[in-house]
Amino acid sequence: MLCFIKKNSQAIKVFITIAFLLLPMLNVAQEIVDLKQFNRVAEQVKELKKTDLALSLKQLTIYENRLNALTIEQNLLYFKLLTEIYLDKNKYSIAKKTADQGLSIARRLASPSIIISELLYLKGFALESLGDISQATKEYKKGLEVAESLHNKIQVASGLINLGAIAYLTDDLKRSLVLLNDAYKIARQTDDEELKGTVNTELGIVYSHLLQDEQSMDYYQQSYLHFKKAGMLLAAHNSLNNIANTHIYNKDYQQAIAVFETIIAESNKDTPSDNMFTVYSGLSWAHLTKPESNPDIAYQYLLMAKQHLQFTEKLDFHLQFYFDEANVLYDLDRFDEVLVSIARIEKILTNQQDMPLIKKKNYTSIINLKAAVFYKKGLFQQAYETKSRVIFLTNKLYENEDNRSITQVRLRLEAEKADRESELLNNQQVRHEDNFQQANLENKEQRFYLIISALVTLAFAWVLVKLIQNQRQLKIASSIDILTGAVNRRSLMIKSQEAFKFAQVRQLPLSILMIDVDRFKNINDRLGHNAGDKVLAQVSYLGANMIRKSDVFGRFGGEEFMVCLPKTTIISALEISERIRMSIDEYTWQFSKVDNLNISVSIGVATLDHDNDLSSLIKRADEQLYQAKASGRNKVCG
Ligand code: GH3
Ligand code: MG
Ligand code: MG
Repeated sequence: MLCFIKKNSQAIKVFITIAFLLLPMLNVAQEIVDLKQFNRVAEQVKELKKTDLALSLKQLTIYENRLNALTIEQNLLYFKLLTEIYLDKNKYSIAKKTADQGLSIARRLASPSIIISELLYLKGFALESLGDISQATKEYKKGLEVAESLHNKIQVASGLINLGAIAYLTDDLKRSLVLLNDAYKIARQTDDEELKGTVNTELGIVYSHLLQDEQSMDYYQQSYLHFKKAGMLLAAHNSLNNIANTHIYNKDYQQAIAVFETIIAESNKDTPSDNMFTVYSGLSWAHLTKPESNPDIAYQYLLMAKQHLQFTEKLDFHLQFYFDEANVLYDLDRFDEVLVSIARIEKILTNQQDMPLIKKKNYTSIINLKAAVFYKKGLFQQAYETKSRVIFLTNKLYENEDNRSITQVRLRLEAEKADRESELLNNQQVRHEDNFQQANLENKEQRFYLIISALVTLAFAWVLVKLIQNQRQLKIASSIDILTGAVNRRSLMIKSQEAFKFAQVRQLPLSILMIDVDRFKNINDRLGHNAGDKVLAQVSYLGANMIRKSDVFGRFGGEEFMVCLPKTTIISALEISERIRMSIDEYTWQFSKVDNLNISVSIGVATLDHDNDLSSLIKRADEQLYQAKASGRNKVCG
């Protein structure tokens, strides 16, 4: 061998020299192949990541060390795809860095490209998932500017959706609706199934917030179909998830559980952990809150959710988990452990500056649970002190809120409620289990707030990122109508239904009032919609003040309110109606001085008779309302 080498050393040298000379040419040929090949691989990766994230990552990162051989545009595509994959894998910190790398390369572009907008949205989404809302908003706005300057419809719609969804976080529901409706209009002009799926999902969430469940479910159903058409199973599952959560809210637990189980059956080992977390967390909650509550099964599902929790960076999911854990453990009488879960929540929340209102409320509600635990443990002094802190926090919540009237009305109601609770607590007698049970029930309702904040954070991935995650759940408001501070329709119906059944079984009287603002269109036309809104809030305030605590005053829809009066005969119901009518008629409206506009209501009254169901009773009250209108308005008929 040695000999051979020696003999041929000359020949080898020549060969090496030639090879060296040829190498650059070979490289050039290799590069040309790479350029074309990369575009093909990029296409494959795009498809692949819908079904197999790990493989798509492997395919793409083959180019990790060959980026210099690619054009700037290809580099951008590389970083965009990589960011999307990381987001899909719920690796938000890396996703943010990757988007940044792409954006720094984008500076070398001679003219703006739509991919910059895409990268900005991706970065915004990563930031948002990590809890940096204000920075996320900035990125979205920048992205939208780029999309608008390039007149790219789909990308503009994506930006509107991002910003529309972020508006939930600041409780700016109106702004959210405006932005989403704009996006919806654009989406309808395209045949982009993903975009349509996403807008429908978002609208489903907003309508759920507006307490229009049927409408909301319709949107979810639509989004499900669009995502299926687009071949996006994860996104389609997300729509199912929203539907399941709506079932939970409407107390259709078995239906909810069935939907969750469908999702699990269709999931596989590659389904991202965030998606699985959401499903198990939902199942746990369904088993905990259903009438024949089963905290043991709920706990089992919670443990399964926990397995997926360790893989998610999402702060809201961690909060969600400890919140659920605290509640499940409470029902299992494991009070010391409840305190541990609560301590975890407190730790996470105290590290967060600029906590959104939603989270502040959760914080308050978790302290409420803490008070309940102290009570259960017989530590009455601590229970009292903790409860005082709840009241302090609730008031602070109210103080710090800006002057948005809607929120104020809502918070005032809550503050008043807290005050009442405080009074009760001062009274020894009230250290009674029932009270704490009540507090705990309210605590459970708060859970939906928490879900909201988790969802909101995720509003985005969908459109812009073109990758769908299951982590969006349902955005559900409290039982209070945001505009008027009255009980919302959903809650109104649930409560009235219960009262109806109770009255039917016990053969007790029950009356229903239907209240409709007279010539409300005129009010809107002459004073503007905002003033119209204020009139509704005030009518609601005046009306709700006229009734007993056991009555329900709710917003039936638009400018109509409904009152459910248990144990009330027709005679008393007519008296109450007359009081409500008068208080509104006699109220000095600020605008009416200027415009000489009288604001009044007409009221129809009906009392339970041979009605088989609530809707027949409501129908009869509605007929009386029609009579009141026909006989000149500002009247009570019954
Ligand atoms: P009538 O005395 O016969 O009841 O007359 P009306 O004008 O009140 O009757 P109609 O039901 O036709 O009009 C109700 C109006 O209420 C139409 C709708 O634009 C307005 N409206 C519904 N919801 C809201 C809301 O939330 N805010 C405001 N400002 N207006 C609303
Ligand atoms: Mg009306
Ligand atoms: Mg009206």
